[in-house]
Amino acid sequence: MDFKLNDEQKEVLKAVKEFTAKEFTPECALEFDQKEEFPSAIYKKAAQLGFTSMRIPQEYDGQGYGIFEDCLVVEELCRADPGLGVAISLGNLMIPDVLLKHGSEEQKKKYIPPLARGEKLAAAAFTEPEHGSDITRMDTTAVKAGNEWVINGAKEFITNAPTAEIFILLTQSDPKVQPPHKGQSLFVAEKGMPGLEATKLHGKMGIRPCTTGSVAMCDLKVPEANVIGEHGKGFYYTLELFDGTRITVAAQAVGIAQGAFERALAYAKTRKQFGQTIINFQGIGFKLAEMAWKVESARLMMYKAAWYYDNEKPNPTATSMAKAYASRIAMEVTDDAIQVFGGYGYLADYHVERYHRCAKITELYEGTSEIQKMTIANYLMKQQ
Ligand SMILES: Cc1cc2nc3c(=O)[nH]c(=O)nc-3n(C[C@H](O)[C@H](O)[C@H](O)COP(=O)(O)OP(=O)(O)OC[C@H]3O[C@@H](n4cnc5c(N)ncnc54)[C@H](O)[C@@H]3O)c2cc1C
Repeated sequence: MDFKLNDEQKEVLKAVKEFTAKEFTPECALEFDQKEEFPSAIYKKAAQLGFTSMRIPQEYDGQGYGIFEDCLVVEELCRADPGLGVAISLGNLMIPDVLLKHGSEEQKKKYIPPLARGEKLAAAAFTEPEHGSDITRMDTTAVKAGNEWVINGAKEFITNAPTAEIFILLTQSDPKVQPPHKGQSLFVAEKGMPGLEATKLHGKMGIRPCTTGSVAMCDLKVPEANVIGEHGKGFYYTLELFDGTRITVAAQAVGIAQGAFERALAYAKTRKQFGQTIINFQGIGFKLAEMAWKVESARLMMYKAAWYYDNEKPNPTATSMAKAYASRIAMEVTDDAIQVFGGYGYLADYHVERYHRCAKITELYEGTSEIQKMTIANYLMKQQ
């Protein structure tokens, strides 16, 4: 169903639809899923058209839109293909957001424009082998030595790690302060710095064109100029980041669900059994009706969270509700899509199984659904 978009938003949506129609061919989607390879050439084209820098200000070579317009683009990319869509929507992961809020002018000028233009990719490293949902304490340490900081530790499951050239690292820079999260700082590091190594993880369930890796830091030396914002604020900056980026994960989930729904609807209108198209069977028609209203309601929650973010202030409860709900319905709708396709839905060539495999990540990264529920429950507890 159409939502009231203004003329500029309609133009953005039209442009991204034209782009996906041309670039996300079925063959290409299957190939990158199988190869587990980042689609660099497609990413560069998307960046040239501005789709990867929607909410970066124009003075740093971005498009200067809000998170709402970014979500329109992310939804369409993931509707057209969940693997390519997620890979392209995460190329600039978080670094521009955190630098725009807390970076020095020097850091903004140095790091954001090449990311906005698609010349470089970003990786944001919080998760560690022993600290996933709980990032209140980091095992990665940053120790001051003269004008430098020496970083040691390991990060796990880092999006773009194998291809990124710019990294942000969450570290424990003061191991003594209590509670420990008040002793965390964020640093920028660059590929090629001695002591920074990334290795690619293989065999992911979904979003295979979006590469993931481990990052090891062994006596990695970064200058004082690479500290982001204030020392001791890294944990707070990270939570603040998630209030925005989790809305774009909701947009990924809505797009994945919408794409699977559209494929199932089209199939149900053509597939014949017992002498009629299967959409005529109430069991299939009702399933499609439920899929449609689930996508619609998740989209509205995502729009609401984006509206708060752009027009008032980030609303963590609205963001968590949108992410948790959209990711759940993405799992349900993509599962139903396979059911509508019957046995064919189980085959890669019919595409919907890929939507289902890719949907799962939206319940896991940037805070699992349980972590979103904790945010929502905390809010409910405080209500009179
Ligand atoms: C493909 C992929 C890409 C990723 N990209 C990045 C990235 O770019 N950067 C980054 O830093 N991280 C990234 N991650 C890591 C991701 O954010 C973590 O996997 C996630 O936060 C969960 O951490 P964990 O895997 O250690 O699970 P755990 O924290 O060990 O959780 C295991 C289970 O316990 C539950 N649980 C934990 N605590 C609670 C609680 N208090 N109450 C109820 N249930 C709880 C969880 O919800 C989960 O179900 C990525 C992960 C994947 C798979």
